[in-house]
Amino acid sequence: MTSHTDQSQPSAAAWTCQLNGQTVEARPGETILEVTRRYAGHHVPTLCYDPKLDPFGACRVCMVEIEGRPKPVAACHTPVTDGMVILTESPRLERLRRTTVELLMSDLPDDLFDRRHYGHNEFHAVVRQTKASSSRFPAGAQKIDSLTALPGQPPGFNTDHPYLGLDLDSCIVCSRCVRACDEVQGTFALTIQSRGFDSVAVPGAYGDFNASDCVSCGACAHTCPTGAIFDKGFLEFPDQRVDREVRTTCSYCGVGCGFLVQVKNNRAIAVKPADQAASSHGHLCLKGRFAFQYAQSDDRLTTPLLRNPESGALEPATWEDAIAFVASRLTAIRDAHGPEAIAGISSARCTNEENFLMQKFIRSVIGGNNIDCCARVCHSPTAFGMRTTFGTGAATNSFDDIDQAKLLMIVGANPTHGHPVVGARMKQAVLNGARLIVIDPRATELAQMADVHLALKPGTNVPLFNALAHVIVTEGLCDEEFIANCTDGWEDYRAFIADKTPEWAAPICGVDAEDIRTAARLYATSGGSMMFHGLGVTEHYQGSFGVMLLANLAMLTGNVGRPGVGVNPLRGQNNVQGAADMGAMPDLVTGYQPLTHPEVMATIQDLWGTKLNPHTGLTIPDMFDAAIAGQLKALWLVGEDVVQTDPNSAHVIRAMEQLDLLIVQEIFLTETAQYAHVVLPGASFLEKQGTFTNSERRVQLIRKVIDSPGEARPDWQITQAVANAMGANWQYESPDEILEEIAAIWPAWRGLSPERLRAGEGLQWPVPHADHPGTPIVHEEGRFSRGRGHLVTADYVPTEEAVTAEFPFLLTTGRLLEHYNSGTMTRRTNNTLLITRDLLELHPEDAARLGVGEGDYVRLRSRRGAVEVAVDVTSWVNPGTLFLTFHFPDVLINLLTSNVREMNTKCPEYKVVAVAVEPLTPAEQAQATQAWLQRVGQDQAAMEHARLLRETPRSVPLPVAE
Ligand code: SF4
Repeated sequence: MTSHTDQSQPSAAAWTCQLNGQTVEARPGETILEVTRRYAGHHVPTLCYDPKLDPFGACRVCMVEIEGRPKPVAACHTPVTDGMVILTESPRLERLRRTTVELLMSDLPDDLFDRRHYGHNEFHAVVRQTKASSSRFPAGAQKIDSLTALPGQPPGFNTDHPYLGLDLDSCIVCSRCVRACDEVQGTFALTIQSRGFDSVAVPGAYGDFNASDCVSCGACAHTCPTGAIFDKGFLEFPDQRVDREVRTTCSYCGVGCGFLVQVKNNRAIAVKPADQAASSHGHLCLKGRFAFQYAQSDDRLTTPLLRNPESGALEPATWEDAIAFVASRLTAIRDAHGPEAIAGISSARCTNEENFLMQKFIRSVIGGNNIDCCARVCHSPTAFGMRTTFGTGAATNSFDDIDQAKLLMIVGANPTHGHPVVGARMKQAVLNGARLIVIDPRATELAQMADVHLALKPGTNVPLFNALAHVIVTEGLCDEEFIANCTDGWEDYRAFIADKTPEWAAPICGVDAEDIRTAARLYATSGGSMMFHGLGVTEHYQGSFGVMLLANLAMLTGNVGRPGVGVNPLRGQNNVQGAADMGAMPDLVTGYQPLTHPEVMATIQDLWGTKLNPHTGLTIPDMFDAAIAGQLKALWLVGEDVVQTDPNSAHVIRAMEQLDLLIVQEIFLTETAQYAHVVLPGASFLEKQGTFTNSERRVQLIRKVIDSPGEARPDWQITQAVANAMGANWQYESPDEILEEIAAIWPAWRGLSPERLRAGEGLQWPVPHADHPGTPIVHEEGRFSRGRGHLVTADYVPTEEAVTAEFPFLLTTGRLLEHYNSGTMTRRTNNTLLITRDLLELHPEDAARLGVGEGDYVRLRSRRGAVEVAVDVTSWVNPGTLFLTFHFPDVLINLLTSNVREMNTKCPEYKVVAVAVEPLTPAEQAQATQAWLQRVGQDQAAMEHARLLRETPRSVPLPVAE
């Protein structure tokens, strides 16, 4: 993949060239094509060129003449030189290009121009520009004899994949798809098959996406100039014209990719990557690119629902009745029991403006601080740990820095599945020579590429991180100048770390002591080590200490405060960073400003005209406990399906049942909504405007693309309506006005404005004033926002969730590429055709001992409950360790998870659950298998089975539906 340099302007030390008689500037290292693309009026046609890919020079359509050279050259891969005289138009070039294109056309089907299933077609444009004609050379025979065709479709036409179509007769063998798969995605799923006129690009060995390694990112379809690989979203719209394209930001993970939604008849029909997007540079993953149909699902909530006290059923209601009900019940509860009896959980799916308003509601209308968000259950330990060590609880660097890192250290994260666009970028960095350390219980895709993979036992991060630091300190690998100038606590720290040897940590962590030494030396000596961590660090009893010890490693080695280094949490949800930034936390208001800070409080009180409550409110786990204890009477949940997603589901359900008032604001009738007294229909990200903040602190716009179904409303409007019904006088006309209020409260947003965001590609906070360009790197040169960085000492304290003879396995959890969290969104898309169920990863030795085979169902039992789940026998996990996803409600994994909470932040310990694995009886086995087959059908079952066998080859017969 070519680097993401700014090609809009030449560097200061520019060369001068003549381009068709015009004097132009060029910079060393540029190609002729790059120079021509910068100057209007000199458009050189291309077919095999894509600015995201390395120059290829295969199609020969971009030929130009250079003074002094006898023959034309390909502009796409010929470097420019100082003083070069370039001609892009001449009779000779016209003839050459036309002939080249006509020869390509002779190898294509006669009806190519009628094949309009692909939405755009660069080849048509080049044919028009070069005035090529299909009459000059006779069309060749169709070249796709050997590939399967659907009945009534041309040979090579295949639409079996849920999202991608093949029309391989249209392939001109420009290799853009193959190169995009290799150079952008790093999956290598496409190849050029056959020779000469028969050659064609195909996925896998058989021309079938479903049987290849394809990860369905769609980069091939996006770059294909002829539609030989196309987005099936256009099949329904043969005239290929869309009504409009709207630029917005992905609503899935915290990468925050930018894309254009293509709209026809007020329906989103396709998504294409935004090449300018600063966090994704024209790439998307399967979820962002294809899994948007949930927003247009038939089972969206379209009206408010009120529970009928007589029948007990949720029944449609008007907005007026629903708002009046919510306002009157909240008022009554507040008046009778005080503000502490009411809580709100705000949403990482919602915009910054909506989160701001929700915490403002709890603080200024209710008068308490019982406000939290799902950052509590994922990265609250990161925010706490990084605030303690560095002063700012967010990523230090930017995704672009991956290209500059000499070494990547990925801890407790699986980016190729959880954050796929960043994961692809990491793969490219490693393919280009960066070293890689992975610390994770599983042999993830990146772990399999790593120089060192430390496959530790779940729950043993703290001893491992201390042992890494021990090696760095005792082997003289520290950056002593950085430590002396930029940190405090060094003497205590050095004494503390002295006995934390790899030999001490190895048996606790289940890794080799020498591997710990190797990893520590690599990290300390690479010349630029960049760290990323995920929930495998935070969702532990000692999660915040895990984060602090990672920060120690960066400080000890000076790997902070410059490009290509730092400590970077990979935020799970699209706007979990923003929800916390906005103050959806019980102890901090907007911008992590403490409730006790007199100046901050004075500013907010002036703005809001209300006296604020200085007492810390309840965290999410505390809210459930308080509800069960009868102290919390009302809970307003926005976009959170806590029954499915929070630990110990039985405990959560008990809490929901105890409440006098449960308000659920959602886009679907979720598991949690079943317990609600009132359900308020919100808008999806496609139906509103506002901002999301991604993992690299980049505040980006989302724009309204389509109308909401029925009477569903943007969440900020719902909050405002309830607030006003309770006596507030909020007059926000749009999210822009809310953004301006946030900027007035939080100094790090002071320079943000709707206009600035609309004009660019987002801004990374802090943005302290209107001319500030944003901050890609915080704590530059070791100037930490807390002053000096703090080296933290933390001893290992094992979790109480320990293995025993009864519960001998440690279960850890995570996400798959194809699905997202509880699956509420992705299960309403064709992603269910790719992955149909949750699978338990079990090591072959354990499987053999238990007598369990691939696809068998087992009972997984913890101290709290039991679930039945199918098994994937794989050496991706170590013996004694299990891994399970949580995307399907029929395996309610949170029946198993515990009430253990992180020491400082109360983040649940999702990542360590002691369980037993019990084979089912033959009758139970047959029943579970048949239930799955009946749910998904034999074809889908076969596809999933084939995928499992490809990943871990073995001979296992596919079960057959009865
Ligand atoms: Fe969306 Fe994340 Fe995929 Fe980007 S990587 S398209 S933000 S899910």
